Amino acid sequence: DTDLARTWVQAIAAAVDKHKDHLTQLDSAIGDADHGVNMKRGFSAVTTALADYKPDTVGAVLVKTGTTLISSVGGASGPLYGGAFRAMGKALDAPTADTQQFATALAAGLESVQKLGAAAPGDKTMIDAYAPALAAFQQHVGAGADFAAAALAAADAAEEGMRATTPMQARKGRASYLGARSIGHQDPGATSTALIFRALAEVVAT
Ligand code: ADP
Ligand code: MG
Ligand code: MG
Repeated sequence: DTDLARTWVQAIAAAVDKHKDHLTQLDSAIGDADHGVNMKRGFSAVTTALADYKPDTVGAVLVKTGTTLISSVGGASGPLYGGAFRAMGKALDAPTADTQQFATALAAGLESVQKLGAAAPGDKTMIDAYAPALAAFQQHVGAGADFAAAALAAADAAEEGMRATTPMQARKGRASYLGARSIGHQDPGATSTALIFRALAEVVAT
């Protein structure tokens, strides 16, 4: 419901706050050392925007989150995550959502990232955490798992995908400018995506 959506976004903000320096450190190795700062600025703005917002639908919370990320984050991650949250929100136009509807929304979010960023799995981006997380969520929902179990599987898969970015060579984003020198470093965006799925698992845990 709308309260859970808000709690999820607040949990993401708390996780970003906690891991800000780590995200920036990862981005300093293969980017421009601002991913933690970008995520922190974005989710601080989202926390403020949601503070006295009275949404009617689950989707409204997520659309507001996405719009705020787009307007407050300068880096690539702002429009990518912003577009993803907006796409998820547009797919959830009701006061409540079931696990199947949430799976559909997560898929719309990934589709938005791929449309905007034109990256594929294996390019060493947030997609390498998002795509396996979505697949795990869908698989568990299809097998009859409840929301908590599906979200836990998604969070585990996102972290596995995040770790798998280390040996990859970047083909999209700033890290791609490094060519083979991007190999051996974990992708910052895949790391923040793993935080987003872990936050979901934690807020829906039974
Ligand atoms: P910037 O690179 O503009 O400084 P950030 O540092 O906030 O932006 O975000 C970098 C992250 O964005 C990367 O680690 C990667 O995961 C993600 N990213 C960059 N370009 C793309 C893309 N085209 N598609 C998907 N994700 C991307
Ligand atoms: Mg950066
Ligand atoms: Mg930047």
